[in-house]
Amino acid sequence: MSRTTVATVHLGALRHNLARVRALAGDAKVMAVVKADAYGHGLERVARALDGEAEAFAVAAIADGLRLRAAGHRQRIVVLSGPDTPSDIAEMQRLRLDALIHHDAQLPWLAKADPLRGPLRVWIKVDTGMHRLGFDPVRAREVHAALLAMPAIDRELGLMTHFASSEEFEGRETALQIARFREGTAGLAGPRALSNSAAVLGWPDARGDWVRTGGLLYGLSVVEGRSGADFGFRPAMTLATRLVAINRLVKGERVGYNGTYECPEDMNVGVAAIGYGDGYPRSATPGTPVLINGRAAPLVGRVSMDLITIDLRGVPDARTGDRVTLWGEGLPVETVAAAAGTISYDLTCGMTRRVLFVDD
Ligand code: PLP
Repeated sequence: MSRTTVATVHLGALRHNLARVRALAGDAKVMAVVKADAYGHGLERVARALDGEAEAFAVAAIADGLRLRAAGHRQRIVVLSGPDTPSDIAEMQRLRLDALIHHDAQLPWLAKADPLRGPLRVWIKVDTGMHRLGFDPVRAREVHAALLAMPAIDRELGLMTHFASSEEFEGRETALQIARFREGTAGLAGPRALSNSAAVLGWPDARGDWVRTGGLLYGLSVVEGRSGADFGFRPAMTLATRLVAINRLVKGERVGYNGTYECPEDMNVGVAAIGYGDGYPRSATPGTPVLINGRAAPLVGRVSMDLITIDLRGVPDARTGDRVTLWGEGLPVETVAAAAGTISYDLTCGMTRRVLFVDD
């Protein structure tokens, strides 16, 4: 397969989106969530674009913290679920990563942190209803006290919770989680971090001292049925390829594996160089739009590993070699995600190594 499939990452859009988050977040500091290779946009590239703009980065793994330090980033880096093993502690101290404690098993590991390696910053995760990671509020209070007695732990302990349904702006669940967090942590010293992207948009009460935003930085939709653009965010990735063939087919002929599409009339069917081997979703249903020469054209037949097939009746001037946009500028990734029965995060995170990434 030729290298015609290109994901262009718009660095200006990343910076614009961070500024937009900051405007919505008031005085709160911004933790740029760059886990999963910056939601598929490339960790080093995104961190470079946001260096000096975000007060901290948040990652899911110590290995990502190592990559950020190796790239020269000096700001705070919060590991959203570590340490995972006792030996992680020394590594986190060496790299000056913020730890997150969510479970009793981690306490003895933190107690053994070496004071000579410098204070380890720790966030306490409070489970207020998501029931994934975190202590119940009563236990969180005890853990807070226990950590203050540990010699190698920085005395400024962060307090964090995560929302399960913050995109439901009218729902009760987030209001309940905010109330549980407030009550549960009342009187405890330390910065608070509650909000993910949707909460930044819809739950100003939850701002706290830090916001932890991922999706909005990449211009992704964080509310069902609304695109990032609806809230003034710009897509940070455009995925595009080329038309590599145009077939003139007669009425009744079938297209692609298992012949699931039957031509309703004589027509041109375009073939574009992208498939599930690149991360384009195999589950994309017929009718999913692509853009050719600025016009939307629907997918027909099955998505295969390297190729997709497109009904060109609406784009009579299409020629082989023309650019085909799969998502990004001009075509929100959430439109494709909805047609594939998933969310935009899943698509950007799912790009494979075969895709060539370029900065714009
Ligand atoms: N905080 C935590 C703990 C997360 O797991 C995530 C992402 O899943 C985020 C913040 C960022 O969420 P979003 O991308 O919706 O802003």
